[in-house]
Amino acid sequence: MEAIRLGDTIDDHCSRCRLLTDHSVVALMGEEVKKVRCRTCNDEHNFRHGKGGQKKKPKLSAYEQVLASVMASMPGAAAANAADDAPTPRPAPRTRTRYTLPRRNRPLPRR
Ligand SMILES: [Zn+2]
Repeated sequence: MEAIRLGDTIDDHCSRCRLLTDHSVVALMGEEVKKVRCRTCNDEHNFRHGKGGQKKKPKLSAYEQVLASVMASMPGAAAANAADDAPTPRPAPRTRTRYTLPRRNRPLPRR
């Protein structure tokens, strides 16, 4: 992960917007984001690591849910890498169906 610097845009939960919104980093503690400012309402608050209030758990996006279930069904991350290296299965050979125009308009053969 790249180091975050002041002024960087970061996603966090804004208590005013009650949404995960774009925030600007306004204070850092070492490499940790300490304070952020909502770019929507300009509310400044401690960085919540994208988490909302204490009660609500951040919902995983549909993509993350799918990803999690896929990863869970896999033997391990190594398998995923191996699959990447594996040759891609050949596409089914194309049946050579040549599209022929109906020869309706062909002039009748002369006799
Ligand atoms: Zn806000």
